[in-house]
Amino acid sequence: MAQKDLYGVLGVSKDASQDEIKKAYRKLSKKYHPDLNKAPDAAEKFKEVQDAYDVLGDKQKRQNYDQYGSADGAQGGFGGFGGGQAGGFGGGGFGGGGGFDDIFNQFFGGGGQRNPNAPRPGRDLQYQMNLTFEEAIFGKKTKITYTREAQCHTCGGNGAKPGTSPVTCHQCGGSGYVTTVTNTPLGRMQSQQPCPVCHGTGQEIKEKCPTCGGSGHEEQRHEVEVTIPAGVDDGQQMRLQGQGESGTNGGGYGDLFIIFQVTPSKDFRRDGTEIYFDQPISFIQAALGDDVQVKTVHGDVKLKVPAGTQGGTTFRLRGKGAPRLRGNGNGDEHVTVKVVTPKNLNKGQRDALRAFAKASGENVSGTGKGNLFDKMRDKFNE
Ligand SMILES: [Zn+2]
Ligand SMILES: [Zn+2]
Repeated sequence: MAQKDLYGVLGVSKDASQDEIKKAYRKLSKKYHPDLNKAPDAAEKFKEVQDAYDVLGDKQKRQNYDQYGSADGAQGGFGGFGGGQAGGFGGGGFGGGGGFDDIFNQFFGGGGQRNPNAPRPGRDLQYQMNLTFEEAIFGKKTKITYTREAQCHTCGGNGAKPGTSPVTCHQCGGSGYVTTVTNTPLGRMQSQQPCPVCHGTGQEIKEKCPTCGGSGHEEQRHEVEVTIPAGVDDGQQMRLQGQGESGTNGGGYGDLFIIFQVTPSKDFRRDGTEIYFDQPISFIQAALGDDVQVKTVHGDVKLKVPAGTQGGTTFRLRGKGAPRLRGNGNGDEHVTVKVVTPKNLNKGQRDALRAFAKASGENVSGTGKGNLFDKMRDKFNE
């Protein structure tokens, strides 16, 4: 999916700080707010601004957008901790059914009292997964097991003993609140508090479930099959919806975030989709040229080193890097040749090099005899 230039929408530069982005967003969403701006395209502009901020206002989504041109990285799962967790100006309610009032409440600190009866989703969980360098590049299918707070298997989450059901709380009449009146020296004080009998659920359990003791939750071992897409990288995370902990009052499960930790390779370095590799070659190969067998994560590849190649020259092996998460091909491998100077020359080699120096018109004072061991070996051979 082609995306708009989100930085352009907010009128900020690509290296703008999160603070600058937030400022631009606030200014523009006031400017285009359809209640304030009667221009025919105001609503559309307003939505564009929201969508842009939804991505750029969230560090992880912004990083994905910068890297992959899309906020949600790969396979619908990437993109990290977006939504409601982003704090005051998060993406959560925006763009969806939240409506303008919600936005203004967020601007101006509005917002009513929370209803204790309202469904609340369960907590999100994190799981750190170690991957080898190759597993991150090629992806894999695996199963993970962890303990989470889940809906009680005996009562199905309502907390009542099987065969019984929760009834409307006699204390609060189902509202979840109680109003207490206290006499103080200043007069009668009224305050609303969560009902002590039902703890805000509005329902009372006469006979508690023997498994969960009425909470509706229990700790369970939970197994999930995870398909790690090819091309993930160290520090990236993947979201598995509904694999977190169970919610209350009918709120759904939270999500599980798998955070990848990738073991470095002893051969390769990786930067996103690009892989870097150092290939030693002899000075003869460098001078005369040669076909060199080069290691890549996709298997060995023949690299043509042209005659006269200088040490430090980098060659590109197209398509031999890490896969792009979006699934369109691979990055490249960059091979830097390291010319190895020969050591421990024997007499024949030294003579050949002296002849070479002479043919090149070079006057070299060195003897080619490295250390004492070389000298002794030469004495022995002469
Ligand atoms: Zn139970
Ligand atoms: Zn109650």
